[in-house]
Amino acid sequence: MIRSMLVAMLTSVIISTTAFSQTQPLFKGSESVPADAIILFDGKDLSQWVQRGSEDEPAKWKVENGYTIAGGGDIWTRRKFADCQLHVEFWLPLMADRSGQARANSGVFLQGWNYEVQILDSYGQKPGKGDCGAIYNIHPPMVNACRPPETWQSFDIFFHAPKFDEKGNKIANARMSVLLNGVWIHENADVPTCTPSASMPEPREPDRIVLQDHGCPVRFRNIWVRPLQ
Ligand code: MG
Repeated sequence: MIRSMLVAMLTSVIISTTAFSQTQPLFKGSESVPADAIILFDGKDLSQWVQRGSEDEPAKWKVENGYTIAGGGDIWTRRKFADCQLHVEFWLPLMADRSGQARANSGVFLQGWNYEVQILDSYGQKPGKGDCGAIYNIHPPMVNACRPPETWQSFDIFFHAPKFDEKGNKIANARMSVLLNGVWIHENADVPTCTPSASMPEPREPDRIVLQDHGCPVRFRNIWVRPLQ
């Protein structure tokens, strides 16, 4: 009796400390977020985010109507990630008086402020290395899968961090696959450097996911991540 109670107690401790049991189904029905995902923003609050560069300065972005709006500086997650699958939904304002990089610019950065998947109003443009969905300044998207501004869009990003040996030598570049609005725009793309600058040191450890405030009121909703071991 005592032994079975101890086993039950131990089992409950193990279950409560394990991230997610592989034997549990990821979906109970038609919900869109898998059960093993970490919810980074559910439309209610930015408790999973702080101002970029800080440990605990609350994110300044406004939250309303189930979305948050870029404004007040970049934000990053409290938690750190390396290899992961990331889902982000975004909505671009129509900024007809602006052009180029000033037109609804934002971005999603992986593993710190290091690898940007660009957000921009590139609807109807021939996609370049600075356009929406580009791995910024390295790879243009394979196809322009943008929706028009003032329409909700989505990224699904599959990120592999760069790998280093015990001496600190890089043995594998970062890699990314990306879907924009469900369309395949990067296929296991090789990312040999950081995107803000090729001379930046690349991250050796898990780091935060960043959303960029580039001075444009871009909206975000429904953000979740699945760390990949
Ligand atoms: Mg950007």
